[in-house]
This record gives sequence, C-alpha cells and structure tokens, in this order.
Amino acid sequence: MHCDHDIAIVGGGAAGTLAAIHLLRQARPGSRIAVYEPSPRPGEGVAYSTRRREHLLNVPAGRMSALPDEPADFLRWLAGREEYAGGGDLSGCSLPRRDYAAYLGDRLREAVATSAATLELRHHRITALRRHDTGFSLEWEDGRATAGRVLLATGNAPRPLPARGASTLGAPRLLEAWDSEGLATIAPDARVCIVGTGLSMVDVVLTLAGTGHRGPVHLLSRHGLLPMAHAPDSPVDTGLDVDALLALDLRARLRRLRQRVAEAAADGLPWQAVLERLRPRVQALWRSLDAADQRRFLRHVVRYWDIHRHRIAPEADAVLQELRGNGRLQLHRARLDLVTAGPRCVHVVARDHHGNALPLDVEHVVNATGVELRVQAMRNPLLEQLLGDGLAEAGAHGIGLATDAEGRLVDAHGIARDDLRAIGSLRIGEAWESLAVPELRQQAQALACAWSDAAA
Ligand SMILES: Cc1cc2nc3c(=O)[nH]c(=O)nc-3n(C[C@H](O)[C@H](O)[C@H](O)COP(=O)(O)OP(=O)(O)OC[C@H]3O[C@@H](n4cnc5c(N)ncnc54)[C@H](O)[C@@H]3O)c2cc1C
Repeated sequence: MHCDHDIAIVGGGAAGTLAAIHLLRQARPGSRIAVYEPSPRPGEGVAYSTRRREHLLNVPAGRMSALPDEPADFLRWLAGREEYAGGGDLSGCSLPRRDYAAYLGDRLREAVATSAATLELRHHRITALRRHDTGFSLEWEDGRATAGRVLLATGNAPRPLPARGASTLGAPRLLEAWDSEGLATIAPDARVCIVGTGLSMVDVVLTLAGTGHRGPVHLLSRHGLLPMAHAPDSPVDTGLDVDALLALDLRARLRRLRQRVAEAAADGLPWQAVLERLRPRVQALWRSLDAADQRRFLRHVVRYWDIHRHRIAPEADAVLQELRGNGRLQLHRARLDLVTAGPRCVHVVARDHHGNALPLDVEHVVNATGVELRVQAMRNPLLEQLLGDGLAEAGAHGIGLATDAEGRLVDAHGIARDDLRAIGSLRIGEAWESLAVPELRQQAQALACAWSDAAA
C-alpha cells in the first residue's frame, strides 16, 4: 500500500511541533510528514495559546530551547525580537508564554524551509487509527488518510469540574481556567470561586488582576496547598548525591531529601536548589521505584511534589501574596461537593475534612482542576478507540498509555512496535516527568534519530 505520508503526527501542540521540527531537521530527502491538529496555529496547544501577557512560562527562558544541542536557542531568538532588544540576560526570566508559541512557529517554518522533507499541516481531529500491513489509516469526521508511522502527541486533557450539579452549569457561570477570553468578561466586582489551586489557578488569578477585577475570590483546594515560587537566581545544590537516592525506597528518599534541604539551608541555600538537582534525574527516580512505592507516591506524596516541582515565577507569587494579604483572595481547605445555578449566582457547597459545609454564593465558578492523567478519563475518542481495539493499553497506575522507555506504545498483547509511538503526557506512567519542554525536546530529538535511522 502506498501511504499518503511517511509519518503522521497526531496533535500539533508544543510536543507535536517539537517532533515535527526535529523530524524535518533529520529527514531523508523526499520523506513526507503530516501534522494533524484542529487548531490553525501549530505550537500553541493548551499552554502557549494564551494571548495574555501576564501568563508566564513557569520554566526560566534559558531552559526553554527547542533544541537539546543548542541550549541558548530560545535566548538567541529572543535577542532578535524588538521588544527584548537590549534587555540584558534573559536566561533566568519568566517570559510570556505567547512568545514561546511564536518561537516554535518560527523554528517550524525555518525547519520546513531548509528540510529535505515536506510537511503538511492538516486541520483535522483524528478519531480513529487502524493498523494495516504497511502502515496506518487515520480517520476524522469526514475523511481518512494513510501513514507509514504515527506519533501520538495528543497532550493535555482538562479535568471536568468534580461536583454534583456541574453538568447543569454552563458558561459564563462556569468557566474553564484555560478560557482566557471568557475570564476577561467577568465583571470587576463579581464574586468568583476557583476550584483547584495549581498552576491553572495562578493563571486565572493573574488574568483577573490584569483585567481590573476587584471582587472577592475564593480558592477551593482539598489540601489547602498553593504552588511555591522559584528562588531568584537559585544555584543548583551540588551536595545532594542523586545516584545514592536511586537505591533507596520512597520513605528513605524523602527522609534523605528533607535532611539535605535542612543542611542546604544551614549553608544559605534555598530548598529550590536541592529540587533543581533532582530535576534532570526525575525519570530515573520514578523508574527505580517499585510499583508499590509508585502507588504510595501518587496517593500520598504527589500533592507536595507538585507544589515544589511546578513552581511559579516570583512575579506571579508576588501578586498572589498581595491579594491574600489584603483579603481579596481567600484559600479554603475544602472539597467541592455541589453547585446549583440560581437566577443571579451559583450556590456552591464545599466540605472540609470533617464534612462541615462551606456555602458560598458567587457569580462565577472557574474550573482550575488541571490536567487529567488517567487515560480512561481523558474523553479523547481516538484514545478510547485505541484502547478498545487493543492497539494501546493504559499506562502504569492507569495514567497515560503503556509505553516502553523509547515511547513505543505497548499493545494489548504486550508488544511494543516501532511504528507507533507517543510523546509527552501520554508517556507519564512510564517516565513520570514527561510534560515540560526540557523532556519534550529530548523525546522529539530521540524519536527523529530513531525514525531517520530506521528509514535509512
Ligand atoms: C497552563 C499550562 C502552562 C504550562 N506552562 C509550561 C511552561 O511554562 N514551560 C513548560 O516547559 N511546560 C509548561 N507546561 C507543560 C505543558 O504541558 C507543555 O509544555 C506543553 O503544553 C505540552 O504540549 P503538548 O503538545 O504535549 O500538549 P497540548 O498543549 O495539550 O497540545 C496537544 C494538542 O493535541 C491536539 N489533539 C488532541 N487530540 C487530538 C486528536 N485526536 N487529533 C488531532 N489533534 C489532537 C490538541 O488540539 C492540542 O493542540 C504548561 C502546561 C499548562 C497546562
């Protein structure tokens, strides 16, 4: 069978676009690549489609290069932009996320212009993928095409609001955290309840602050935890022996980490410096835990890990602290239970850990519960079809898809084939740290090497 494309990438967010850039750079002459992405602008996806200047990268600019071998590439691109000219060293800065989409778009165009391969952007949402003798057919609402190899880059799926009555609420009473345009329509004195207190909540608070909102904002969090800030100019702690951690079980690792944080503090180093030392080895740390300890981590530790690992820019933290200080932002440690739409407001009932009701009347509820990791709950028809047909299996602990260490999907018979791979969040069960650009660019480069070698 002659295939329409040698390679099809399903999903054109940051991960799919990074993969396209690396595949184009390494492609052999004449190969044809397609990216399937419903949105018109590749590279944006969920994280970088925001138009708002106050939505910042949570990774400093110096670590956001698309090219592992050229770590200063994003900084070089910034230096060529009028708005950053003469801005000094930007490597430690948290810049607007929309700039990152522009960077990826430019690098993709350059890769297309200089590649021996061709790239076709197709604006379809793939609903099914079927394996044939010589490749795959990809299906969308009113069409189909074929490809020799397929990379899944379907990325982040939002979690639905976890409350009774949620299905009876619609916009603008219920808004999604990633809907910046909807959030910008909130009246300046409206009462707002944000459900979830991770990075998406921070974006919402910054949007409200940026649009002149002055009303009360209630934050609901089951554990009452807020993301921590990056330490300015934090060095990496060289006193932590990460290799020694690999041999320990979860409990012993945590004990050693706490101990090292205390020692570092005595030397005047912030805890962030210790976390930075762990950062490049998180995948090895995850893989070296046994299944029981991985489960324990997901059940008891992940909420503390998340607030320390996924840190926010000091500028964003300053806004949060100021709003908390003047009482406009109130944090409630409670689990959302029920939402009921009234004529003028939404009646929200949350419960604290004793079961006591916390009633709130607000004009808007914002769902900031973040991304869904459990593949069965992602509500992506393509993933459901792959699981149903046995081309894919749920990943370890039900999160992401089952893959090997190179991102090959493991099918229902336990077989990993090279012609169907995944990048990014779908690999979270196997790799855990598989969401942010430093991992995505590594995965993209490794994939391009593997597939160009195989094609040769
Ligand atoms: C709000 C937010 C901020 C973040 N900030 C940072 C940051 O500053 N730095 C950092 O390193 N990381 C950040 N991250 C992590 C982030 O997940 C990645 O950097 C990036 O978004 C991952 O891109 P992705 O392509 O995997 O996923 P996504 O951005 O979710 O893109 C996936 C794409 O796949 C498409 N798609 C899905 N299903 C199909 C289908 N069936 N057919 C065709 N197309 C499909 C979607 O339309 C979407 O465009 C952030 C994440 C979020 C949610």
